[in-house]
Amino acid sequence: MVPVLFQCRDCGGNVIESRRDGRFYEHHKVLINLPISFTIPECVSCGQGWFSDELIQKMDMVLEAEYMEHADLITSIVNFYNHQQQK
Ligand SMILES: [Zn+2]
Repeated sequence: MVPVLFQCRDCGGNVIESRRDGRFYEHHKVLINLPISFTIPECVSCGQGWFSDELIQKMDMVLEAEYMEHADLITSIVNFYNHQQQK
């Protein structure tokens, strides 16, 4: 069983720690896939995510680390597309 953190302030449903793949967030103008290990309190009824200031700060650090890890690849892709558009 997953512990219920609190009741959703939108619909009253159960909010639990959620983790899944495919959550993309914009960071430095690119979309970064948030690591699956990163949990976000999310309502099981309406899907609303609940972000505290602390969580947003933590998420920003994780996104920055992901960005830096792939920075060379991202830069080369951006340069490639910019070059393509100039043709
Ligand atoms: Zn809800």
